Amino acid sequence: MTNKKYKLNTKMIHAGVSPDPTTGAIMTPIYQTSTYVQAGPGDHKGYEYARTQNPTRDALQSSLAAIENAKYGLSFGSGMAATDAVIKLLKPGDEVIVSNDLYGGTYRVMTKVFAAYGIKFHFIGMQDAQDITKHINSNTKMIWIETPTNPLLNVIDIEACGVIAKKHDLILVCDNTFASPYLQNPMDLGATIVLHSATKYLGGHSDVVHGALVMNDAGLEERLRFIQNSCGAVPGPHDCWLVLRGIKTLHVRMQRHCENGEAIAKYLRSHAKVGKVLWVGFEDHPNHDIAKKQMRGFGGMISFTLKNDSIDEAVKVLKSTKLFALAESLGGVESLIGHPATMTHASIPREERMKNGLVDSLIRLSVGIEDVDDLIDDLKHAIG
Ligand SMILES: *Cc1c(COP(=O)(O)O)cnc(C)c1O
Repeated sequence: MTNKKYKLNTKMIHAGVSPDPTTGAIMTPIYQTSTYVQAGPGDHKGYEYARTQNPTRDALQSSLAAIENAKYGLSFGSGMAATDAVIKLLKPGDEVIVSNDLYGGTYRVMTKVFAAYGIKFHFIGMQDAQDITKHINSNTKMIWIETPTNPLLNVIDIEACGVIAKKHDLILVCDNTFASPYLQNPMDLGATIVLHSATKYLGGHSDVVHGALVMNDAGLEERLRFIQNSCGAVPGPHDCWLVLRGIKTLHVRMQRHCENGEAIAKYLRSHAKVGKVLWVGFEDHPNHDIAKKQMRGFGGMISFTLKNDSIDEAVKVLKSTKLFALAESLGGVESLIGHPATMTHASIPREERMKNGLVDSLIRLSVGIEDVDDLIDDLKHAIG
């Protein structure tokens, strides 16, 4: 099916999936094989070896491209493997401008792995996209953004970044994990590559680790597919199948994540012991106008601080919830609670994170799709 013909909710169900040629199975089978038999040397059906090609992965890759309004999709063993593949487009001496409030693992691979290969990363605030231009020089090759950001839920103007990237001939990478394609399609706003940790909303059931890239440029797709095959961080067919199945309910899950997120953000805001509540749907959120412009809804990711800002106070809350499970990750059907300072963002030095507003008591919620009254009761009991 073509990308444009059907609306998003239909593409989630049908894109990339066609009846299995052998049996007519409506759902793409899990092609659990490492190799494919050839009739004679080089005489094959387009499948030679499973690191290079797999039909279950093909179906998923087509689905990913379709739901992000892109031409090409590529799957990886994790979101970080997808990140790693994108950075491998660069060479020593190249520079990247990166939003300073981003997934801890992305910061870690950039500073602890790729910096040693001579790639330079500038971490800057991007609430005003024009600030990016100050850091562009003749070595700059890439702009890397994540929006909404994790865990501070800032919003970056993707379209404005796209204009800057185009003007300076730079690759604009947008990590769309938090919003998911249901809420935002960065390719339509000028992104060159969209990245997902499909572990989160795309998979949606906390049962798989997976990464994805989508792009429109054929040359770029060829280079990234070469890296995917050469470096080998490919997903197994069962994992591809789980993500393919997850995508089929993305739109109905996201609708409920958004509804529950809104109710919980409003509840927290009314709580006497809660300091700041960060949720992009609030009209007084500093980037609400951009969020309204580029997102179709505001999601179920919420961060909040306690008026008594200390790690101990946060830990009391984290240990007291019964439905919100204390765990890393996000985007699953079950609600999670986390403490960025000691969990997902522990690899960022305290001084650095405090500067960016990632304070000691900051608690992050990934609001699931349980009954919202039960979730609010759980928080009421835990915060006290
Ligand atoms: C989880 C996450 C990643 C990394 O993905 P993995 O699947 O865990 O490797 C990257 N970016 C964001 C925004 C994430 O939340």
